[in-house]
Amino acid sequence: MGSTSILSSVARRLEGKVALITGGASGIGECTAKLFARHGARVLVVDIQDDKGRSLCAALGPAVASYVHCDVTNESDVKHAVDTAVSLHGKLDIMFNNAGVIDDLSSSFLNDEKSTFEKVMAVNVLGAYLGTKHAARVMAPARAGSIVTTASTASVMAGLATPAYTCSKHAVVGLMRSAAAELGPFGVRANCVSPHAVATPLSRKGTGIADDEELERAAEATANLKGTRLKAQDLAEAVLYLGSDESRYVSGHNLLVDGGFTVTKIVL
Ligand code: NAD
Repeated sequence: MGSTSILSSVARRLEGKVALITGGASGIGECTAKLFARHGARVLVVDIQDDKGRSLCAALGPAVASYVHCDVTNESDVKHAVDTAVSLHGKLDIMFNNAGVIDDLSSSFLNDEKSTFEKVMAVNVLGAYLGTKHAARVMAPARAGSIVTTASTASVMAGLATPAYTCSKHAVVGLMRSAAAELGPFGVRANCVSPHAVATPLSRKGTGIADDEELERAAEATANLKGTRLKAQDLAEAVLYLGSDESRYVSGHNLLVDGGFTVTKIVL
């Protein structure tokens, strides 16, 4: 191998890989789809926001990205999305269970409706379960694969988000650990990535702050790590690591991307 081809394979860390990204039309998922494509992966963008998902895939190019409508709470949709990856590309290397919702900032034990709790748990937990289940179905026989699920700093701390959201993000860490335990013997890895606050439609709803600049400033004010602001790109880079062969012996891990927020006291 000449020095040029060594360099290009280092620069394109997902060359030849096939990735499926749920919640891929917006925010962290969209940013990850773009980064994965830049690193040589073929990407299935999976979401319920069809127009956004389709225009992202058109921009990335039909040879690189395909859009599949899929409500992650619907098992036949999830099965179809995974089967589409296999029928288009012959395999699935990376499953990114990233679709998520948050309830209103005002939700609490004192005023919640049962249906609100159920909706958050359905998308965030059942959705990740179905994504893991159907990814495992095709990854285990192939004896390879990486499953990454988006948790949150609310997976290790209470009081950062609503009860339903906090519960759902603690739950996906348990789900991920179960997957790592059961699927490790099949050569399949499972990990979580846990963002702190990043400006996206979801965090605008979860914080009640509509303006991205204001939201980032508010996050910066309580951040442990100063001098930089957390962006969706930082999460995409963490998922790139967990999806790539560079993390080939990392499984059962919850990678917090929070500048040390959850290991220190909050500084106001
Ligand atoms: P986002 O709103 O930009 O993206 C979420 C995506 O999930 C949207 O495209 C939405 O259409 C999709 N989605 C929602 N319900 C779905 C369903 N039933 N089926 C398929 N797709 C569905 O928000 P984001 O911040 O990029 O969220 C991505 C993940 O990151 C979520 O799991 C979220 O909980 C997590 N997270 C976000 C933050 C943050 O501050 N933004 C912090 C911690 C964790």
